[in-house]
Formats: sequence, structure tokens, C-alpha cells
Amino acid sequence: MSLLTAADVRSLATRLDLRPTKTLGQNFVIDPNTVRRLVRTAGVGVEDVVVEVGPGLGSLTLGLLEVATRVVAVEIDPTLAGELPATVADRLPERADRLEVVLQDALTLTGVPGPPPTAFVANLPYNVAVPVLLRLLEHLPSLRTGLVMVQAEVADRLVAPPGSRTYGIPSVKAQWYADVRRAGAIGRNVFWPAPNVDSGLVAFTRREPPVGDREATFAVVDAAFAQRRKTLRAALAGWAGSAAAAEERLRAAGIDPGARGEVLGVDDFARLASAPVA
Ligand code: SAM
Repeated sequence: MSLLTAADVRSLATRLDLRPTKTLGQNFVIDPNTVRRLVRTAGVGVEDVVVEVGPGLGSLTLGLLEVATRVVAVEIDPTLAGELPATVADRLPERADRLEVVLQDALTLTGVPGPPPTAFVANLPYNVAVPVLLRLLEHLPSLRTGLVMVQAEVADRLVAPPGSRTYGIPSVKAQWYADVRRAGAIGRNVFWPAPNVDSGLVAFTRREPPVGDREATFAVVDAAFAQRRKTLRAALAGWAGSAAAAEERLRAAGIDPGARGEVLGVDDFARLASAPVA
């Protein structure tokens, strides 16, 4: 079997003298069944070019290489990036030429080498999960689908619909690019070291973005949620120039100035961003 077991992860870590860091969100999957589940849930097939962020020791990478035509793995840690080709050559030699490792901070990614990627599958470093996801959706427009493992609480926020308690900036921005949904829960024991939070799976399918300008829309989203307890009229006063100007623009977009930002969907925000200024 090519997938890494707990014993494999342990022996690789010992040989590399690895000390997983919290800063880089290094929690490695030690359970082949979890990897199989992730690959199955992601729906990755033989036609897919997959981008993975944070391959770590290669637990998920090996599972992806078993099915995809190509995997581009973006890793920030030079030791892990350096070791990955050898791990794949050892465990899955017939697929080794399908892997390309990129040593880079995913938060600086503007593209990936080779054919346009179609799917994004990752067990994301938890402290940068949302910005990494949004960055890839922005900079890799060929991505059609994806599955990411994130902190359970972040998963809830990403998929939250308007009006719910966890709805906020990550929800609206992710929903600009894609239909985003919960795709399962993951316990702590499938990782080494075990994190002190539960994890959740989030699947996405790219959608036609709303009509309007993305940056202008994200600016109004940031303003609306910066003061989420206030009415939109008050919260958007700075953004519009004054409370009266905010009220005017809200009315022009057909939105109640007394409402709160958390009731607006991404299409409402897009409409508001392009509403005429008197
Ligand atoms: N995919 C592996 C697994 O499932 O076992 C490891 C996942 S671990 C949660 C996160 C990985 O992301 C680590 O390998 C870490 O070094 C890497 N990483 C952290 N920050 C990163 C960044 N900004 N860009 C790219 N990789 C990053």
C-alpha cells in the first residue's frame, strides 16, 4: 500500500528530525482511511490536475496521485518540500512523474507551473486557511472544484448562509467565487500531533460570480462586518462618506438601511457596491 500509516509518519519524522510547528499548522494525517475519504469526497478523477497546499510528509499527496493526472504541491517548509519527491518515488514510483513540488508560501501564489489546475484539495494550515482558499480561488480561475480540511469553526463560517450566527466576511467572500458546502467532520486522532480543535471538510464548486466589481464588493463587505452590530446605515457611513450617503446608496440598491450586514447575501453586496452615488 502506498499511503502513509502512523508508523510511516513516525519514522519519516524521526529520520528528518522533524519538530512540527504550530506556526505552520503542521498536523500530519496518519490514517490512510481518512486520506481515502478525502480523495473520494473531493471527487478527483483521472482528468484532474490538482493543486495541493501544504503536502507535508505526503499523506494526502499520495492519495491524490493514485487517481489524478497531475498534482502540484505547494509547500512552505524546505525540509518537507525537499523530501516529498523521494517519498513518492519510494511509495508510488509509477506515478512519481505526475508530481511537481513548488517551494513557496501559498499566500504569495499567483499561478502554478504546467497545465491549468482543475481541482484544489488540501489539509490546510489552520491559521491561514481562509486567506489561502480565497487566494487560490482568485488567482487560479481554472479551478472548478475543491475540498479543503479546515478547523471545524472555520468550516462553519465558510458555509454559513446569510442571517446565521457564523455568517461573516469569509462566508461572503468564498461565496463570491463558489457554491460552498460542508462535506463532513474529522476527529483529532487522525493527526500527528493531534490538534486541540476538531476539523471539518468544506467542498466547493465554482459559480458564475455576481455581476459587479469584486474589489469594490469586498470593500463594502469588510466595512459592513467591521461593525456587525450596527445597522448598515451606521456601519457604512465611513465607506459612503456619511450616514446619509450610505442610506442613499442602500436605498438605491433596494436594501433597508436599518438592516444589519449579516442579512445580505453576496449578490446584495455586489449590487450595493455598484449602486449609483447621487
Ligand atoms: N497535507 C499534509 C497532511 O495532510 O498530512 C500536511 C497538512 S498540515 C495541516 C499543513 C501543511 O502546510 C504543513 O506541511 C505546513 O508546512 C504547510 N504550510 C503552512 N503554511 C503554509 C503556507 N503559507 N504555504 C504553503 N504551505 C504551508
